[in-house]
Amino acid sequence: MIAGFRRFRERYFSGEDSVYSRLATAGQSPKVLIIGCSDSRVDPALISGASPGELFVVRNVANLVPPFDSSGGGVHGVSAAIEFAVMNLKVESIIILGHRQCGGIRALMLGQEGSMGSFVSRWMRVAARAKAEVLARFKDEDIDTLCRHCEMESIRVSIDNLRTFPFIAEALGEHRLTLHGVYFDIESGTLMELDQGAGEFRTIDLPDRSVRP
Ligand SMILES: [Zn+2]
Repeated sequence: MIAGFRRFRERYFSGEDSVYSRLATAGQSPKVLIIGCSDSRVDPALISGASPGELFVVRNVANLVPPFDSSGGGVHGVSAAIEFAVMNLKVESIIILGHRQCGGIRALMLGQEGSMGSFVSRWMRVAARAKAEVLARFKDEDIDTLCRHCEMESIRVSIDNLRTFPFIAEALGEHRLTLHGVYFDIESGTLMELDQGAGEFRTIDLPDRSVRP
């Protein structure tokens, strides 16, 4: 931790016009909220090469967004972060970042959420609709394939749930906000984006480095 912080500080705090001297003076103004998984292999800032101040990030088990809770009860950390990002920071995009080999999704598909502890069990109910959809459409597939489908389907569920928040519906209606689903395949090293019109994930082609300016 300390060795890493030394390198971090040299990179971002050195000089009068350092990244942090600007961020500390002007405050943060990220344009993007990323909702990713807690999985140690799926760090949104590392994957995207983002600098400090560029991403507002929420990470939780299986990168889920619960539906808007209008009851006024409960303690909602994810919803609070989404609300702050949209209402205060006025982010322009929300990205749900799912990934291959998600442990939360695997537990859900195997029906083992309970064995991982009651918090995980209750939390993974957010993706119950995704599991039901996948089992209805692909019931003869092997467990790895089912998990892959559910990892993607749960991204669709989270995007649907985002739309249930009144302040998100309003921002979408005023074209101040866009929602995106992205899937990182940690086995092949590829990134896919959800085509919300077609309902399918498509591999994102990376531009050839040699032709970039
Ligand atoms: Zn995961």
